[in-house]
Amino acid sequence: CGIVAYIGPKDATTFLLEGLQRLEYRGYDSAGIAVLGKGGALKVCKTKGRVADLAAAVPARFKGTTGIGHTRWATHGVPSDANAHPHTDNADRIAVVHNGIIENADELRARLTAEGAVFTSETDTEVLAHLIFAHAAKDGELEDAVRAALKLVVGTYGIAVVDSAQPDRIVVARNGSPIVLGIGEKEMFAASDVAALVRYTRQVVHLEDGELATVRADGFRTFTEDARTVTRQPSTVDWEV
Ligand code: GLU
Repeated sequence: CGIVAYIGPKDATTFLLEGLQRLEYRGYDSAGIAVLGKGGALKVCKTKGRVADLAAAVPARFKGTTGIGHTRWATHGVPSDANAHPHTDNADRIAVVHNGIIENADELRARLTAEGAVFTSETDTEVLAHLIFAHAAKDGELEDAVRAALKLVVGTYGIAVVDSAQPDRIVVARNGSPIVLGIGEKEMFAASDVAALVRYTRQVVHLEDGELATVRADGFRTFTEDARTVTRQPSTVDWEV
């Protein structure tokens, strides 16, 4: 339902929780965040219930300067802590938040399970974490792993992905579910809705369907699912906050 992401010099958790609060008006049943701490260690905190419940559950030492967050409106699997996003692979290397529906999730889940993946949720989203992990372990670059995984997916998505082995970037993608980048001063944001960003920046870039972006603290690159670079000029949001 709602996606937020941050990369920069500051503590990511502060923006993630506040950004999720700004998306609450859309409705949701659970919320979660993942951050990459020092050395890239992946930390995940998620819970059924309100963003306030999530904020209360986040441990004091939940520090990181790269992170993603989600409010979930369940489509596949009941509202529960386990089904809340972010979802991770079994090595806790990749974390994914997802809006939308993966239509061929059952088939992908069966294939991944046969290859040894152990699923810990009932969601369609979890297949993305295992698929991206499988490709990241082979291909290296996170953006290539995400592109390869999305080629196997039928459905709609707005996603944000972090990789503990590549903590200097976040990869986002859009197909039928909006993703907007927010450009800051030596920091970058992403969200499913500008409402999460306007307190932090007015310079935004809307992705189009079939596009991805690799987002780093000092900038971003947008490209297609076939790895063709596309150039996008930022626009300025004119909004009362
Ligand atoms: N289909 C996913 C799920 O049920 C994402 C739902 C959403 O867009 O929040 O977990």
